[in-house]
Amino acid sequence: MIAFGPVPSRRLGKSLGVNNIPRKVCSYDCVYCQVGKTRQLAVKRREFFKVEKIVEEVSKKAKRSEFDYISFVPDGEPTLDVNLGEEIGRLKTLGRVAVITNASLLWMEEVRRDLLKADWVSLKVDAASDEVWRRVNRPHGDLIFKKVVEGILDFSKEFEGTLTTETMLTLGINDSEDELERIADLLAQISPKVAYISVPIRPPAYDVKPPPERAIDKAYILLSSKGVDVEILSRPESGLFDVGDDPKEGILSITAVHPMRESDLERALREKGIDLSVVRELLSEGRLEIIEYRGVKFYRKR
Ligand code: SF4
Repeated sequence: MIAFGPVPSRRLGKSLGVNNIPRKVCSYDCVYCQVGKTRQLAVKRREFFKVEKIVEEVSKKAKRSEFDYISFVPDGEPTLDVNLGEEIGRLKTLGRVAVITNASLLWMEEVRRDLLKADWVSLKVDAASDEVWRRVNRPHGDLIFKKVVEGILDFSKEFEGTLTTETMLTLGINDSEDELERIADLLAQISPKVAYISVPIRPPAYDVKPPPERAIDKAYILLSSKGVDVEILSRPESGLFDVGDDPKEGILSITAVHPMRESDLERALREKGIDLSVVRELLSEGRLEIIEYRGVKFYRKR
């Protein structure tokens, strides 16, 4: 289940997903993470899957699908994969490659070198002070905020593809006026093509809530005033999820990374002429779970 989708993405159109990291191996344990609490906090890069296996699985899916981007968007941190650069290089023969990274390892030259090969990169910038960073991203103990920021700034100068950032705002953690001001200054230095501001719209790992509209408006105004192109992502994506030819595997591979709303899952199955019994089976086998968040029912791989 390395390749999944394509799934609709608010930033990437139709995204053919690559999950190159085992479940929740990450350098962060973000309060809002939609795939649950981090099981293994890690900063040391290593091989998780053979390059051949990743290329083969993605190529197979790419041949049968229409997509805008091949996107590294795992249920962990993609740059922990020591083969990432080689994988990007080989998958680029199939289409444009995007990587959504938490940016915590960009202080390592080899990580920056790998990511330079991508066409589109999103960097996580949820905080601009050490204290708030620790609260929102709950980083591995070996990480140093100052070095993380230096890595981000170095990469932003070197990268020639499309650079974007994502800032997830959470109530009472990183939505104060002071922190928003600092984040806006940092984003102005990074100078991304677009700085996306989002709020938790799927079930978070810890008990966090989206901030009020006024904090989102404030972030928008602050960023715009510093010359940063900003877009707010506070609504769910529209579009069809592709569960593939094996619906059980398809549902599990998507929901491992991307909890699905009940309505999206029903629509994806209806499109393929499949009834809901597969969902009931996955639930009774204990491979899928239902989570309610803000009045909406989501399905997530267990
Ligand atoms: S949101 Fe991303 S960076 Fe944060 S814990 Fe989840 S997988 Fe890791």
